Amino acid sequence: MSVIQDVIANLVEKEIGQPEFIQASIEVLHSLEPLVPKHPDFIKAKIYDRIVIPDRVIMFRVPWVDDSGEVQINRGYRVQFNNAIGPYKGGLRFHPSVNLGIIKFLGFEQIFKNSLTTLPMGGAKGGSDFDPKGKSDNEVMHFCQAFMRELYRHIGADTDVPAGDIGVGAREIGFLYGYYLKIVNANTSVLTGKGLEYGGSLIRPEATGYGAVYFAQEMLATRDININGKICAVSGSGNVAQYTIEKLIHLGAKAITISDSNGTIVDEAGIDQEKLQFILELKNYRRGRMSEYAQKFKVPYYENKGVWDVLREQNIKVEVAFPSAHENEIDQNNAQSLVNNGCYCVSEGANMPSNLDAVNVFLNHNVLFGPGKAANAGGVAVSGLEMAQNSIRMTWSREEVDQKLQVIMQNIHRNALEASETYGCKGNYVVGANIAGFMKVAKAMQAYGIV
Ligand code: NDP
Repeated sequence: MSVIQDVIANLVEKEIGQPEFIQASIEVLHSLEPLVPKHPDFIKAKIYDRIVIPDRVIMFRVPWVDDSGEVQINRGYRVQFNNAIGPYKGGLRFHPSVNLGIIKFLGFEQIFKNSLTTLPMGGAKGGSDFDPKGKSDNEVMHFCQAFMRELYRHIGADTDVPAGDIGVGAREIGFLYGYYLKIVNANTSVLTGKGLEYGGSLIRPEATGYGAVYFAQEMLATRDININGKICAVSGSGNVAQYTIEKLIHLGAKAITISDSNGTIVDEAGIDQEKLQFILELKNYRRGRMSEYAQKFKVPYYENKGVWDVLREQNIKVEVAFPSAHENEIDQNNAQSLVNNGCYCVSEGANMPSNLDAVNVFLNHNVLFGPGKAANAGGVAVSGLEMAQNSIRMTWSREEVDQKLQVIMQNIHRNALEASETYGCKGNYVVGANIAGFMKVAKAMQAYGIV
C-alpha cells in the first residue's frame, strides 16, 4: 500500500460515523499522490498522517431558555484543525444537521482554502445543531450568548477568529460579537463578518458569491469564453447564492434558478435586479420562503426538490453552474445530466456540493470545474482583509476591497492551474488547488519539527 492509502485506511478505521470528513480527506489525499515520490521528507515527518488529525476539538453543551421559558440544550463545536500558517480561521454553522464529522470536514477543507488565499490564516470550523429557522430574534440572541459563553475562552485575534456560515449571518455575528465584547471587554478582531459600524469590512457579505463568479471568469478565460449572456444555475438563496446572482447580473449573465430547503424556483426569463431585491428582502429581513417568489413572479416552483434534480427532470439547459447551498447536493446522475444539457463550467460556491462521483463526471467530460476550496475562498479572503483593517485600525473603500478580492481570486486560479500543470494534470483544479494549498502548510509544519 502507498503512504496515502495507508493514511486513508487508518482514517476509515478510526473516524467512524464521519462520512463527510472521510470523503473530504480521501479527495485531498488522493490528489496529493503526485507529491509522494518528489517529497520523501514529507513522508519522513509523517505530514500526511498528521495533517488529517485536528490540533484540537472543542465540544460543549449550549443551554438556553426559549420564549416559553423552557430550557433548551444544543451541542456546540469548534475544531481548531491547523494553525501552521496563521491563527485558526473558519466559519460557524448553525444547522440541525451539524455534527462532529461535518465540522471536521469543513475545518479540514478550510486549511487548504485559507492557504490558497496567500493570507496568513490557519484552518478551523465550528457551529452547533441549533436551527435559527423559526426562532424569534430573542431566542437567536439567547442562543448566541449561550454559545459565546463557552467559545470566548478558546478564541482571540491572534488565536482563532470565527466567522459566519450556514445559519450564521449578520444578525448572529452581531449577537455573538456583542456578547464577547461584554464578557471580555476587548474590542478586538475576534470575529469577521462584523457590521460596518463595529469593525466590518465593505464587500465581506458579497465576497464569497462575487469570488465564485470571478473564479468562473478566470476558468472560462482559459477557453476564451466570456460569461456575458451565459445561462447559469444557482442553488440556495442564502448569502453565497444572493451575491453570486448579483455579480452575474452585473456581468450580463442570466441566473435562472434559486432554491431553499423547501423547493426550487426556475425563472427562465432570468433573475434581474428587481427580483434579486425581492429575494434579499424576503430572505434577510422577513426570513420567508422562496415559494413566495414563485407566487409574486408567476414562475414554476418545485416543492421539496433541489435545483439539480429539477434541471435533470425538466431537461433544462444551463451553461455554467454555481452550487451554493450545501454539501453533496450534486450526485453522479445530476452531474451527467448537467453535462448532457450543455454545462461546461461549474464553480462551487458551497463547500463540497458535488460528491466524489459527480466530480469525476465533470473531470472526465472536460468541464471547467472549480472546487469549493478554490472557488469559494473569496469569503475567507475578505475576512482576512477585515482582520488586516482591524489591526491597522483603518477601513478600505468598496473599490479597494473588491479590487483586492479580484486579485486574490486571480492568484488562486493561477496557483491552482500552475500546480496542476507542474504535477501532470493541467486544468484539473481539484489536484491543483489541493497541492498548492497543501505545500505551504506542509512546509511550515516541517519547519516546526515534531510538535
Ligand atoms: P446561508 O445560511 O446564508 O444559506 C444557505 C442556503 O442553502 C439557504 O438557502 C438554505 O435554505 C439552503 N440549504 C442549507 N442547507 C440545506 C439543505 N440541507 N438542504 C437544502 N437546502 C439547504 O449559508 P451560506 O450562503 O453562507 O452558505 C452556503 C454554502 O456556502 C455552505 O456550503 C457554506 O459552507 C459555503 N460557504 C459560505 C461562505 C460564506 O461566506 N457565507 C464562505 C465559503 C463557503 P433555507 O433558507 O431553507 O435554510
